[in-house]
Amino acid sequence: MLATRCARWPIRSPSGYMAAAVHAALDGKTRVGDPSKQRLRLRRFLFASAFSLLYLVVLGLFLTQGRIDTTTLVQATAVVGVLIVAFSLLFLSGLNLRVADPSLTAWQFLAAVFTMLFVVYRAPDTRVAFTAFFFVALMFGMLRHSNRHLAMLAAISLVAFAIVIALRHATGHDIAVLRLDLLHFIVLVVTVPWFVFIGGHVKRLQRGLSEVSLRLEHIEERARRDDLTGVFNRRALLAAMEDAKQRADMLGEPLSLCVIDLDFFKRYNDEFDHLTGDEVLRAFTLAVQQELRTSDVFGRYGGEEFIQICRDTPLAGAVVDAERLRERISALDLPISRLIGRLTVSIGVAQYVPGETIMQTFARADGALYRAKQRGRNRVES
Ligand code: GH3
Ligand code: MG
Ligand code: MG
Repeated sequence: MLATRCARWPIRSPSGYMAAAVHAALDGKTRVGDPSKQRLRLRRFLFASAFSLLYLVVLGLFLTQGRIDTTTLVQATAVVGVLIVAFSLLFLSGLNLRVADPSLTAWQFLAAVFTMLFVVYRAPDTRVAFTAFFFVALMFGMLRHSNRHLAMLAAISLVAFAIVIALRHATGHDIAVLRLDLLHFIVLVVTVPWFVFIGGHVKRLQRGLSEVSLRLEHIEERARRDDLTGVFNRRALLAAMEDAKQRADMLGEPLSLCVIDLDFFKRYNDEFDHLTGDEVLRAFTLAVQQELRTSDVFGRYGGEEFIQICRDTPLAGAVVDAERLRERISALDLPISRLIGRLTVSIGVAQYVPGETIMQTFARADGALYRAKQRGRNRVES
């Protein structure tokens, strides 16, 4: 139950969401074939497809400058179209779930590189576009693959480029083109390892950042919790009370506060020991949370004094809730070796009056609690 409350109330910090997203993006080892990630995979693929279309647009510019012939551009467009449809079908049919990397990043990378090399083979002047788009494709791969895999993909691409150069030289003997091809090839051979190396470094930095963000989120959550009972602590309660007041002001909803104090709690410490007293506090908080409405916030204000924030609840409703809680606690079985009378609570209830501060509401509820104590304890006052 406590876990449910934790999941419901504590607000995840934006850093936490980002950390989870970065983790997911970097986590190349997500469960093989995990179908819950299909939509994410398809979205990533569509993003990569947009990148392919951009490449075609760039080729269009080369066409206007007479650096590529229409046939090659039409063929490249057809290949890109077929690949987009084929990969979409793989994702939509779920066939991708059968392979070790269901995101098919390596296959998408190789498909893009081979398409671009086909264009380079047919229109050597598009080498410039190939280089730039090749590095962007490597960056896509960097997010999903280890350095070793990425280096392997880069090596396959360079070998394929070398084959394209050799093929072209075998079919036509233009030395000027060959020289340019070789220069281009050398530039890639020299720069790609650095890219892979720096990419690995960036990935490690990102991973470190996401881990720190996750840890920060954990620390933030712990800072909102009471160490002994795990319920919200005074700081979180004050923030929640302020939030609830603002919500009440904005929506015109009623809002009530219950201040709950355990009666004669000191005797558990005196008759047994402090550890037993601690156990009684834990048993009490557990019992309260078991019947807590999802819209209510409950926490420990200090010592053996607790607060329940009842959103969208007028005074009469909060008094009924408080009365029910009082009865339940007086019937609670405590984890103690011998009975020294039943545990009871006194509760003071007050409704927020628009225009006052939430601490003024709290003071009125505390005053009602004082009256409950004065009038004999184990009662609810408002
Ligand atoms: P009353 O009905 O008037 O509220 O009587 P009480 O005994 O409950 O109240 P009092 O203020 O006299 O004593 C509260 C006691 O709660 C004193 C303090 O030692 C004890 N206490 C506060 N926090 C803790 C805690 O975390 N663990 C334990 N074991 N005792 C605590
Ligand atoms: Mg007390
Ligand atoms: Mg007290």
